[in-house]
Amino acid sequence: MNKIAFIGAGNMNRAIIAGLVNNDVEPSNITVSNPSAPKREALANEYGINQTSSNSQAAEHADIVVLGVKPHLITTVCQEIAEVIEIEHKCFISVAAGTTMTQIQAALGENKSVIRAMPNTPSQLGLGVTGAFASEQVTDEQRVAADRLMKATGIVKWLAQESDIDHIIAVSGSGPAYFFLFMEAMASEAERLGFTSAEARTLVQQTALGAAQMVVENDIAIGQLRENVTSKGGTTQAALNAFTEGGLPELVSGAMQAAIARAKEMA
Ligand code: NAD
Repeated sequence: MNKIAFIGAGNMNRAIIAGLVNNDVEPSNITVSNPSAPKREALANEYGINQTSSNSQAAEHADIVVLGVKPHLITTVCQEIAEVIEIEHKCFISVAAGTTMTQIQAALGENKSVIRAMPNTPSQLGLGVTGAFASEQVTDEQRVAADRLMKATGIVKWLAQESDIDHIIAVSGSGPAYFFLFMEAMASEAERLGFTSAEARTLVQQTALGAAQMVVENDIAIGQLRENVTSKGGTTQAALNAFTEGGLPELVSGAMQAAIARAKEMA
């Protein structure tokens, strides 16, 4: 059984820990470290895992070390661990946006097994998407263990090259907010039409949930699903024409390209 260390007792690590424990990973195989006692103790008490204030102590007996601190702290934390303990056979998973493989490997020392993972916020519900890119040093065994770990929060898409991380950011990383924006706009209009704020929210959320579930359950093209619910000359057709004439497809493409450009700037 792999032993797993989580560096940082924040939101992302909490989501993964919750997923692992709920999927029957033995809590005694998990250790979390955080300088803040209340944060690490809260997490440890909630899931029955081990806790420590020392990052290197947490990592010492771990096969997998999940780096769940803010991007500006990643290299410091890596150096701190690499200076104190032997890390030769460990696999490090960084969930930090914008911190490159080169930066992480420089901080850990050359030829270390590192996976850059890019989860998204629905991971908190077990409905996440994680894009993952592995350095060439990651063994098959480490990849299988990492895959299992990341699947605790949803689905995993392994990426062939590091630059694909920017692409997964544009699709699934930033993606939930695109849907929030669309739902927000629909709810605002529903309120203008006379529904209360609570009613508008319920109507929009149930519509979004139902539409997503239809995509999940019907193994046909999304465009086909759209055509199936669009009668010629009907109300849906009128609304969709307005979207198309307003340039929605081009707008979505431009927005995703903007996310990619920003991810490159931040790296
Ligand atoms: P967070 O602020 O909730 O968690 C970070 C934790 O690290 C905090 O609890 C903080 O006390 C702790 N910390 C600070 N200094 C530390 C140190 N020296 N050693 C150990 N722990 C330390 O942030 P988060 O949202 O969980 O994000 C963590 C990482 O995950 C970030 O790099 C972020 O880019 C990445 N990420 C988060 C999400 C998300 O949905 N939250 C999605 C994708 C990527």
